[in-house]
Amino acid sequence: MIVGRHFDPEIRRILDVARETAPKLKDNTVWVTGGWRPGEGKHSSGEAFDIRVKNVEGFNLVTFEYNETVAKWARDMQKLLGSDYDVIYGAPKHLNHIHCEYDPKEEISIILNAAR
Ligand SMILES: [Zn+2]
Repeated sequence: MIVGRHFDPEIRRILDVARETAPKLKDNTVWVTGGWRPGEGKHSSGEAFDIRVKNVEGFNLVTFEYNETVAKWARDMQKLLGSDYDVIYGAPKHLNHIHCEYDPKEEISIILNAAR
């Protein structure tokens, strides 16, 4: 489900970057398979998307095993999005999609600066 928060620029950026960095996809389309879900971390605040990887060329649809092309896509997304976002692929339960969430780290640096 899509909620209002998904349309805010910092959240929409996840989709722009997913499209910009996408490898060759069988249907040439970046699919969002998950948006808002209650009780699931950043999904419950509308600050995360799950991106389909089943349409990545070479992805094994039988075993759903770790796929290097998908891993590179996730790394490229992380690189472009920067440290205020977390891109997850390859962890348990994260082999059939790329999870990406907005998770700004500014508060941590403010705390660290105050401690000096
Ligand atoms: Zn997710």
